[in-house]
Amino acid sequence: MQNIYIKIYKKTFFLFIRLLRIFTKKFDKKISLLLSKTKWSSGYFPETLEVTTTVGCAMMCDYCPQEAYKKNGKEYPKVLSFDTFKDAMKNVDNKVKIHWTGFSEPLHCKDFTLMADYLNERGFKQHISTTMFGRDHCREYMCETKVFEQMVYHLPDNNNRMHLKVTDKYLDYLEKSITFQSQIISKKKFTVMVIGNDFQKQVRKLVDRLLNKKIILESQIYIRKLLVSRAGSVQVDNIEGFDQQISFSKKNLIKIIKNYSIVGMVD
Ligand code: SF4
Repeated sequence: MQNIYIKIYKKTFFLFIRLLRIFTKKFDKKISLLLSKTKWSSGYFPETLEVTTTVGCAMMCDYCPQEAYKKNGKEYPKVLSFDTFKDAMKNVDNKVKIHWTGFSEPLHCKDFTLMADYLNERGFKQHISTTMFGRDHCREYMCETKVFEQMVYHLPDNNNRMHLKVTDKYLDYLEKSITFQSQIISKKKFTVMVIGNDFQKQVRKLVDRLLNKKIILESQIYIRKLLVSRAGSVQVDNIEGFDQQISFSKKNLIKIIKNYSIVGMVD
């Protein structure tokens, strides 16, 4: 009985935290800092470790603080090596879920496939957020690997906010990867997302085709018209074409509550 009260208390507390973060930009950094120092977590926030594989991301999305990130990351090697990764992972328990995101595109890292396989062999759960733009051997890997428990395809938008060149080769890899992974990963943990009003034209055609073939479901598509400030690093009000962070419909509010995490952004 006591456990139920604790569960209710924790759920209420974390809901309050989420709402506080959504409605106030003011306390966002302080809340993130506070939560990062505690091991206490609700079921919504299992322990996770976000892995950044490269300093800087070629897509340079308008809504991503890449300039600040590259400036602050100058002292680190540009690309994470397998040896460094293995050394660091010695300190991490396999109950921690690994998130391949962290302001970078994992498929740009030469050793990414080795790292993902290494974690899988050690029983880690892995979540990846990818644009599917990167090295060919990594993209091929995405069409055949079964190591991921959760996946978000973050794809180009129709206003070119993500500076990714859509080519036939890109679309081909994307189609193969979505077709394969959608059969492996549970429906609830598989998302095809765009940040903006809609997908880039050719990507939209592909998404529609996959929907028609029932390879993916409408409920797995997430058109995210809202931006988060990433702890104040992005001036969301300056980016045209998006709803403001604090003015949203009830439907969008439910989406934010469902998707908002401690990290605050998908990748
Ligand atoms: S949002 Fe993702 S894809 Fe865009 S620049 Fe940032 S890390 Fe790269």
